[in-house]
Amino acid sequence: MKEIAVVTGAGGGIGKAVSLMIHEKSGGELKLALCDVNEAAVSELAEGIPGSFAVAADLASQAGRDALLEAVLLQGTPSVLVNNAGIDKPHEPLLSIQESSFEALMGLNLKAPAFLMRHFAKEMMASGGGVIVNISSVLARHALTGSAFYRVSKAGIEALTRQFAMELGPRGVRVNAVAPGFIMTPMTASIPAEVKEKIRSMIALGEFGAPEAVAEAVWHLVENQYINGAVLPVDGGMLL
Ligand code: NAD
Repeated sequence: MKEIAVVTGAGGGIGKAVSLMIHEKSGGELKLALCDVNEAAVSELAEGIPGSFAVAADLASQAGRDALLEAVLLQGTPSVLVNNAGIDKPHEPLLSIQESSFEALMGLNLKAPAFLMRHFAKEMMASGGGVIVNISSVLARHALTGSAFYRVSKAGIEALTRQFAMELGPRGVRVNAVAPGFIMTPMTASIPAEVKEKIRSMIALGEFGAPEAVAEAVWHLVENQYINGAVLPVDGGMLL
């Protein structure tokens, strides 16, 4: 059976670019498992990528994560996992933060990749190895008003990246992360123009990033056999 590359949040801006990049760079050798809670988005993407398949699942729930693992194992052996699904809302002033926001942001951005890594890494080790790439954020290292739990979830995924890299490296599984800056996707589309301009002024290259820039970095981390435990910024030199 074919080796499988699993991309979560594949229906969104970065996830779609990552999926297309993996398909192109692997020359179709890696079969793509395209997972998203948005069934229509991944079904449409799967139609455009030969040999790929869509998995509609809410990865914030254990049932959703189990469904993804089961669907992938039916199709082949996972050798790549890109933990990309994420949310950045609600934005809340620090003194109004809600427990429900903590649970939502941590549930999808930190708990889901943690347990997906655990389950998929076991399968990778059993079949001779693999590689995991987590999508962090520039905000793991920088404060932004209203984003307390988002940044904690991303700082957490960077810590877990290093932890899994250290423990799984000797067992043939590399684990790295990409930390995007401001990327033009549905996630950032609704940010008001004046806020966008303020953010742009913080970027040394003076430009927002395209999802393909993140996708290229993900592919680099998949390919390079001697990078393990790294967090690669893709932010045009933001908040230097
Ligand atoms: P996006 O909103 O375009 O895509 C996110 C995708 O995740 C969507 O397709 C959505 O349906 C899916 N998703 C949401 N909840 C889900 C769930 N419970 N289960 C499964 N899938 C779910 O956002 P994006 O900009 O492509 O972001 C992708 C990743 O990049 C996220 O982890 C985000 O935090 C990170 N990131 C984005 C930026 C940016 O500027 N866009 C910057 C830094 C980090």
